[in-house]
Amino acid sequence: MVKQAAVVVLLAFLTGAARSAGAQSLRGLRGETEEARTDQQQPRRNAHPVVAITFDDLPAVGTLPAGETYVDVAKSLVSELKANGLEGTYGFVNGDKLASRPGGPEALRIWLDAGMNIGNHSWSHMRLTTNTAEAFEQDIAQNEPTLRQYGEVRDWRWFRYPYLEEGESVEKRRAVRAYLSEHGYRIAQVTLQFADYEWNDAYCRCRAKQDEAAIARLKQSYLDAAAEDITLAREEERLVFGREIPDVMLLHETPFTTLMLPDLLGLLRKQGFSFESLSQVESDPAYADDTDAGSESGGTFQGQFMDSRHLPYPPVEPDPYQQVSQLCQ
Ligand SMILES: [Zn+2]
Repeated sequence: MVKQAAVVVLLAFLTGAARSAGAQSLRGLRGETEEARTDQQQPRRNAHPVVAITFDDLPAVGTLPAGETYVDVAKSLVSELKANGLEGTYGFVNGDKLASRPGGPEALRIWLDAGMNIGNHSWSHMRLTTNTAEAFEQDIAQNEPTLRQYGEVRDWRWFRYPYLEEGESVEKRRAVRAYLSEHGYRIAQVTLQFADYEWNDAYCRCRAKQDEAAIARLKQSYLDAAAEDITLAREEERLVFGREIPDVMLLHETPFTTLMLPDLLGLLRKQGFSFESLSQVESDPAYADDTDAGSESGGTFQGQFMDSRHLPYPPVEPDPYQQVSQLCQ
């Protein structure tokens, strides 16, 4: 858990750093070419954006507020998803968490009994960049008995790469992709992710201190970060694909994301989004494309194309994670 948290913070830092560097170069570019740009050159925004909501690190992840259990979190989450007609939502499972998270098996059973789906997120949340393709493939295979046992007749052959890392070399990327394809898997890509897990520890601290003002700030900053990520991702998609593509949002089943889900779904609706299943979204031809390039940092689907084509990232607001980590200390 500690190791994973450290890696997650590092990933958020690296993502932020990459974006900042990109933002600088785009600002420079805009400064030089602003006069030359016309309204006609601005791609039009898709009037009816769609998104599939997905969750990683099932059966349970994140610190719990005092008095709450992972089973409570799972019950709240599925009840909110069902209230919004989001049965069939995919949750990506690490089999090793069933033993290490108190109530893990029950939490997973609640997810499935509510009509949600599960997919493979590797047995141990293995990082591909620091492991061989063979070890990674073994870790995928090790997760299958659990998926078979819990998923039964469901289509669980969807794979979500831990840390969104698909291999630092093109050889490794190709090897794992070939393995996935041979074993009938589709890759569960991600276009929207704002590191939703980063708010959870601060939320637990603020709950313990009963600091309602700080919790209100956390809620606002979470929604602001989500809104900014959506705007940026859509802009990146226009840069990469020449249009906005159906989106896949990555969330985690933490207590804070569970609490925020109604507001987050409300934000998406306000922005015109409607909800589709993962397979509906990925039936868009854009998802048949592949950078076929190694990447140390991995990242979102469109982000990997941004990197492989050396496209400058759109400008970003200052990183909220530093401020969040200091709240209620
Ligand atoms: Zn994960």
